[in-house]
Amino acid sequence: MKISDPVSTVSGVGPKKEQVLKEAGIETLGDLLAYFPRSYEDRRNVRPIADLKPGETALIEATVLSRRYSGNPYKKNTPLSLLITDGSANAEVVYFNGHYLAKLFAVNETYVFYGRMTENFARRQFVHPEFTRAGSKDDVREILPVYPDLPGLSQKEMRRLQHEIAALADEMPEWLPADLVHEQRLCSPAYAVRNLHFPVDGRKVLEAKYRLVFEELFTLETGLMLVRGSSRSTRRAVSFPCAAGDRFAASLPFSLTAGQQEAWQAIKADLESPKRMNRLLQGDVGSGKTVLAQMAMLAAADAGYQSVIMAPTELLARQHYESFQRDLSGKGLTIELLISSIPKKEKDRILRSVEDGSCTMLIATHAVLEENVVFANLGLVITDEQHRFGVSQRRRLSAKAEDANILVMTATPIPRTLAVILFGDLDVSQIRTMPAGRQPVKTTLVRREERGKMYRFVASQLREGRQAYVVAPLISESEKIEALSAEELYEELVRKLKDFRVALVHGAMKAEEKSQVMEDFAAGRIQVLVSTVVIEVGINVANASVMVIENAERFGLAQLHQLRGRVGRGTAESYCFLVTDSSSEIAVKRAEIMCQTTSGFEIAEEDLKLRGPGEVFGTRQHGLPELSLADLARHQDVLERAAQAAKKTVQEDPDLQAPTHQEVRKRVERMFRGNISLDL
Ligand code: ADP
Ligand code: MG
Repeated sequence: MKISDPVSTVSGVGPKKEQVLKEAGIETLGDLLAYFPRSYEDRRNVRPIADLKPGETALIEATVLSRRYSGNPYKKNTPLSLLITDGSANAEVVYFNGHYLAKLFAVNETYVFYGRMTENFARRQFVHPEFTRAGSKDDVREILPVYPDLPGLSQKEMRRLQHEIAALADEMPEWLPADLVHEQRLCSPAYAVRNLHFPVDGRKVLEAKYRLVFEELFTLETGLMLVRGSSRSTRRAVSFPCAAGDRFAASLPFSLTAGQQEAWQAIKADLESPKRMNRLLQGDVGSGKTVLAQMAMLAAADAGYQSVIMAPTELLARQHYESFQRDLSGKGLTIELLISSIPKKEKDRILRSVEDGSCTMLIATHAVLEENVVFANLGLVITDEQHRFGVSQRRRLSAKAEDANILVMTATPIPRTLAVILFGDLDVSQIRTMPAGRQPVKTTLVRREERGKMYRFVASQLREGRQAYVVAPLISESEKIEALSAEELYEELVRKLKDFRVALVHGAMKAEEKSQVMEDFAAGRIQVLVSTVVIEVGINVANASVMVIENAERFGLAQLHQLRGRVGRGTAESYCFLVTDSSSEIAVKRAEIMCQTTSGFEIAEEDLKLRGPGEVFGTRQHGLPELSLADLARHQDVLERAAQAAKKTVQEDPDLQAPTHQEVRKRVERMFRGNISLDL
């Protein structure tokens, strides 16, 4: 037998099992060896029943004292109940399919059971434990691997198959470059395979797992590096002193928070060094990212360089434009706003000033990406809310000036683990502090029957001159999904809040209609804005103090956090109501987290734990390959190490041409299925 032989070479694998294995991607014996257990059952030691805590899973050895089975042959599901003892305590064992099992147990015989003990009215109970007669050939006392389930292939069968081919483990080739294996102190693939399938020692299992998790993350990171082009991070760019930024900070009526200061020091170091800045600045809405952008842009202007900040919507670009005009007036700067909706003549004028260098700071939407926008001496490029842009857009912007520094800002609180993966080519700064005096939004969980009371409270806020957002998960009524639609909700609120102006906005409306409603809301002409999640993208209405989220269970944590971030921007006390009737464990947990913390980072980390990374990014995760062993929520350290190693590998051999990298290349291609056109 060789590892390249088909699985059908093993005895007992006929056409049917061959098909099942094939569907799981297992065609050769090598593939089979690489099909790893998902967990282990420690069956080395028999435990006394009396020592077990309810909920604990264990191996016990006990004698049957009595047997109860009514044995009605017409009812297959008559339960079988055994009273057992191991001398330390008695317990009951129950099987619901007693029909088949009754004859396998005899009174006064001793059996070995493996299962979870529960406590039922103070009686110890094992429901459906695995069992075998003590001392029989199936009575093995070892650590048993548990494999991911395959249809028609039992655990026992899979364990047998692995035993049949165990000797082949030594043939598993080392495919990682030798220096990497040495540096990372990885065990060999042969050692990993042996210890994962035939575990004898917990520590060795961990060593084996480490190797495989590292392998997987290294492959992932190498692929991502190839997609991005690693050379970027070593490029040079213009550098300039940042004293003008410091002076501006000193002139502000407030002092920077600790988080802002730390991020600024990093930005400053980047800008003052000849290495190109490539930095991701993360911070919750309101944490003060824009101030840092202004400081960096001022430093650029002071040194005679142009800078640009790109926002995802016209509304946001306008807001930036207004605040820049206000905050940076009297400094002799020329600040322009470039968006597609301005008249042609005006646009031409702006384009000329960008090209001849008289425009010092440009605020723009993606209109800036067009070919005809040419800068005279661009030194700094900032992208706001970067998650709204794809990699290709980010790239087009940075291509405007090969030697400009890059700063991307985001309020999406991506846990550091994922930031490393998703933006591995960027350095990451996080602002985890909020300006002093900012009041946290009061968050409350509301049951359906309390809605009336809640809307009466909303009305009282409106009477005080405040505004409110009300969000529903759907646009219109659906037969399939039981949840409130924005349209229904709008009708309801027009009736309920009839003294106030209520408007509806949703994603299916025309862009002009949408922005009209948004503008009316921003100007205070509308008091209640009913919407779907379209408002998720940053509009800044300081007067809005209430956020109601209907059917909150239908939103992810990150989304809830983004929505809540729409309020609490003014001085007034703000409120967020999560309306739900769901009793699902995850919905309740989410609501609890929302009520407990307002830190986007904490929320993102909890979200990652709660749902796993696959779902956190959902469809936005565009083509990030699936991982089989690595868990991004848990293997953060390994990920960082793998990323470093991948970076080094790709820097030394950008196309993986070296003979030692051939297998790495193959693995990357297999993981990304040849599809490495990532567009995040
Ligand atoms: P972000 O872009 O991160 O959402 P902004 O930069 O728009 O946040 O800041 C939100 C508001 O907080 C602005 O009005 C800004 O002037 C103010 N601000 C920023 N930093 C501080 C600070 N350190 N202390 C007090 N107020 C601050
Ligand atoms: Mg902002």
